[in-house]
Amino acid sequence: MAPRSPFNPLETIALQSPTHSVEYSPKVGPSRDPEAPVKRWYHYLPLCGAILLILAPQPSWLYVLVDYHLKTLKRPALFITHLLVSYTLTFLIFSSLIALMSPHEDYSAPGRWCRKCWGPKPERTHHCSICGRCVLKMDHHCPWLGAKCIGHRTYPAFLHFILCITLLGIYIAVVCGSAVWDAFHDAFQDPRNMNELMPLHGIFLAFYAVVFVLVMGSFYGYHLYLVLINQTTIENLSPFLILRHLPPLPRTGHDLSDPPLEPELSRGQRRLVRDAHESIRLYDVGWRKNFQQVFGWNRPYGWVIRLWYGGSAPGDGRSFPRNPKSEQLLARLATELVKDEYRR
Ligand SMILES: [Zn+2]
Ligand SMILES: [Zn+2]
Repeated sequence: MAPRSPFNPLETIALQSPTHSVEYSPKVGPSRDPEAPVKRWYHYLPLCGAILLILAPQPSWLYVLVDYHLKTLKRPALFITHLLVSYTLTFLIFSSLIALMSPHEDYSAPGRWCRKCWGPKPERTHHCSICGRCVLKMDHHCPWLGAKCIGHRTYPAFLHFILCITLLGIYIAVVCGSAVWDAFHDAFQDPRNMNELMPLHGIFLAFYAVVFVLVMGSFYGYHLYLVLINQTTIENLSPFLILRHLPPLPRTGHDLSDPPLEPELSRGQRRLVRDAHESIRLYDVGWRKNFQQVFGWNRPYGWVIRLWYGGSAPGDGRSFPRNPKSEQLLARLATELVKDEYRR
């Protein structure tokens, strides 16, 4: 529950905008920002595109399997194995996609307050102006997945989704690559063996899969790196976020706000912040514990859910242990910023 106060902003908003009154139930607590864009049907077009990209090569895949593994090689066991592996991976891809489509959670832990959705704002929570709400440990807003935010609860499902796409891509590329290789090898020995259609489908699929593997695989690699250093995409790409975590500045002889704001900083000070951001890892508590914060589980058979659709991260997403080393580095950055201010 949100902390009670005689002035209830949620009720005030409901009175001002009757069209939104249903959404601002005081029982629910923090809810959608009324100024955020309303989600329309066309916001789902990129999602439909993404699903189409995953399903479009299916006919070619079946063609290669039936024509090459069943008719040419006459190996039904191999044919069934390839079907099982590829459709298990496809099932896992869609499982995590459905998990990603479920609505975001609300929360009511005390902490900072979000001025846009009138809700408490715990550490690492960001307000997404497109979704119009605060997202716990927000990673990024993803237009491809039905204009949804990836945050504390959905991050493991998101990682599961891109990992399974990468694995399916690798599998298809290897199977099709070897089928095409064999087909050309046979045709080289006896041109009458040449089936013109199979290599065409096989080459198309192998190329398609390699593109997917390169794009999604490098994306997954980047996210694995972020998991190991315990940063979200937003934290990794926004160096000036660390300004919020600076210790109180010495009060004399400078005009900086406390904490300093990005537009107040000189070019030199901005460089100091960027350099510090490289080494300050606020939540890095060692790679094992960082990994557990995302992939660990706290219920029996948690690993089944991890394998099936990714599940959600353990913990409440509101508080995170800090890296003790980062406090010293933040204190040093605060001192350097003030020193630089004297020089100006
Ligand atoms: Zn908010
Ligand atoms: Zn969003």
